[in-house]
Amino acid sequence: MRALVLEEKGRLALRDIEMPHELGPDDVRIAIHTVGVCGSDVHYYTHGKIGHFVVNEPMVLGHEASGTVAEVGANVSHLKPGDRVCMEPGIPDPNSRASKLGIYNVDPAVRFWATPPIHGCLAPEVVHPGSYTYKLPDQVTFAEAAMVEPFAIGMQASLRAGIRPGDIAVVLGAGPIGMMTALAALAGGCAQVLVVDFAQPKLDIIGKYDGITTANLGDTTAKEAVAALTDGWGADIVFECSGAAPAVLDVPNLARPGGAAVMVGMPVEPVPMDIVGLQAKELRLETVFRYANVYDRAIALIASGKVDLKPLITATYAFEDSITAFDRAVEAKPTDVKIQIEL
Ligand SMILES: [Zn+2]
Repeated sequence: MRALVLEEKGRLALRDIEMPHELGPDDVRIAIHTVGVCGSDVHYYTHGKIGHFVVNEPMVLGHEASGTVAEVGANVSHLKPGDRVCMEPGIPDPNSRASKLGIYNVDPAVRFWATPPIHGCLAPEVVHPGSYTYKLPDQVTFAEAAMVEPFAIGMQASLRAGIRPGDIAVVLGAGPIGMMTALAALAGGCAQVLVVDFAQPKLDIIGKYDGITTANLGDTTAKEAVAALTDGWGADIVFECSGAAPAVLDVPNLARPGGAAVMVGMPVEPVPMDIVGLQAKELRLETVFRYANVYDRAIALIASGKVDLKPLITATYAFEDSITAFDRAVEAKPTDVKIQIEL
């Protein structure tokens, strides 16, 4: 099957490659329609690794996908050929201790698309477990459905935060995940979300949403911006979505006493944290790794119109132009949020 293959660090090819195609009784075969280009795909392309996940052999990229069911296994009853779907890219061992606890996202045995050595989904067809394949309501487009994966991280962050109605949150970093987190926090009950970053074009994009205000760190500090919004009390929830060392260090300064700090961004190297700062306010520290049991909720929010992700889709490329799409993503223009590929 022809797929977008990362041959090695810095080298992509559209070529035929052997991919799993056997349909088990619990699986569905899906004709892929849209795949979003993710920061992690781009990082494997430019660096050949993320942490201890190293690309040692050719790997198909892509994990943010929607498509149409082509065939279902004998045990699959909730889907049929022709259903429009999106897929959760991590497949845990259903019998693992983590899965039994409902935290299958941190199952050590999880197999996640486009995380070495597992192939991703930038190919015309994939076989996937039916239980991690979600039927789309008619009003959710394939493009929106391919945004469910990154939005699910924002959903997980919101759930971990334990948002209470009327909370004020601050999001550090206006990258795609920061934007998704801000929108999920609003949908989860925050009265106001302040997003801070250095890149004005990104702030202009997310600042268009009702309920979101922005501050440019070139003009002010996060602490001043939060103080202005909360009369000096601090934010109920701080979502750290930048992974930048100075932002991580600043987290305790932004939260109110007894507030929560949610670590979403992933620093490339270990970074220092102000433990006494956290202690002095008795902040609750939460961490986020991917997501579990949020796809249904994410799709429901998009279908209801309460969350509109369409403005965050910047450009769409044909499958044949996948390499061009990736090279554009590598440029990381501040006006680009999500680039998608259509098959
Ligand atoms: Zn992603």
